Amino acid sequence: MLSLQLPGPTSVPFKILCIGAHSDDIEIGCGGTMLRLIAGNPNCEVTWEVFSSNHEREREARSSADLYLQSVARKQVIVHEFRDGFFPYDGAKIKESVEALKGTTPDLILTHNRKDAHQDHRVLAELTWNTFRNHLILEYEIPKYDGDMGQPSVFVPLEADLYHKKVHFLMEAFSSQRNKHWFQPETFLGLMRLRGMECNSPTGYAEAFHCRKLVL
Ligand SMILES: [Zn+2]
Repeated sequence: MLSLQLPGPTSVPFKILCIGAHSDDIEIGCGGTMLRLIAGNPNCEVTWEVFSSNHEREREARSSADLYLQSVARKQVIVHEFRDGFFPYDGAKIKESVEALKGTTPDLILTHNRKDAHQDHRVLAELTWNTFRNHLILEYEIPKYDGDMGQPSVFVPLEADLYHKKVHFLMEAFSSQRNKHWFQPETFLGLMRLRGMECNSPTGYAEAFHCRKLVL
């Protein structure tokens, strides 16, 4: 299969916007892809925005962003305190926060899947598309109890050091989540192994995304 490549080193900053409802969503959905993008281009500029948190979750979100973005010179980490589970009812304020990101003029946006079973995730997916009208948007996937895993269309194969680092950082940064029955390395590795199988990844591991529009 013809492989379209992620951008390599660029002379002008390659701007990436990561949007996540909860403090660990970006890392679960696209942590490996972010590590690969950053490793491939020292000139990345990242805006990393988390919408729901409390005191502990904000601390975890910020220390996790420090791990994933440690080699990124230009980065902006924004953590809001919108109420977990209530995004559809806090829509106006959340929309204003997404609209405020317009000025970041991203080359690539990584956000939630429009068909995600979690209402907070869906709100952010819809607002991403409402706000960014002429951009490349990839929608990442979050495994969950509800069971909404679909059929993604874009795959990012990951080298062994990157998918191991993704899981290691997740387990290190989010100690408050370790008592959840699903927050285990096997969950994250298992999904990446399935996606790696589906795209014939050389290492067997990959992350996958839903892409609704792509201009060649
Ligand atoms: Zn979430």
